[in-house]
Amino acid sequence: MDDALPDALRGDPLRLRQILVNLIGNALKFTSEGGIEIHAVGQRHENGFELHCSVRDSGTGMSTEQQERIFEAFAQADTSTTRRYGGSGLGLAISVNLVHLMGGRIWVDRTPGEGSTFHFVAYLQSPQHAPPAALSPHAVSDRFAARRVLLAEDNPLNQKVAVGILREADYEISVVNDGRQAVAALAQASFYIVLMDVQMPEMDGFAATQLIR
Ligand code: ADP
Repeated sequence: MDDALPDALRGDPLRLRQILVNLIGNALKFTSEGGIEIHAVGQRHENGFELHCSVRDSGTGMSTEQQERIFEAFAQADTSTTRRYGGSGLGLAISVNLVHLMGGRIWVDRTPGEGSTFHFVAYLQSPQHAPPAALSPHAVSDRFAARRVLLAEDNPLNQKVAVGILREADYEISVVNDGRQAVAALAQASFYIVLMDVQMPEMDGFAATQLIR
């Protein structure tokens, strides 16, 4: 991994993993000697962050004609492939779609007799450029939001008690006085959790929770 890569990027980890697992799985499948190298480099971009990953192997390689076809659904480089290596011919077609959904592209370089190198570029977001997220499972994976708690509570004494306890536990806490303010706060920033009072002026906890959901 390039030293210039940030510690955290915002994107879809499950889908990114799916692409990498497919490319690395293929590299392992089609390589019996030599090795496999995986690289990740990247740079800032007007649309966020451009991540470039490559998987290089010293395996069977492929012809120019095969190089053009293998990204199509059900395509396998030669008919003996399925018999020898198994597989569905779908992995790369799925990866093409996933990479396109991330605004990027995928391709393969080949040097005859020296295996193949699969590349893909995907656009992710740097955490500081990410749009504010509503409370969702994604908010939890945002490590900057992971210590932030929103307290919606109208009673000043209860506010004081809750803030005292949460600060003690090293949480960063924002306090709002009613449900309406809670909904507005969530539109501005992401929080790990919301502690919501039920009875509040302006908008109660039930109505606010419904709106957030
Ligand atoms: P599958 O591996 O299930 O057949 P894929 O869509 O992942 O399906 O790959 C399609 C075809 O591309 C493979 O069957 C193989 O012929 C070729 N291919 C993919 N990766 C490599 C690789 N690293 N080296 C050589 N051929 C490959």
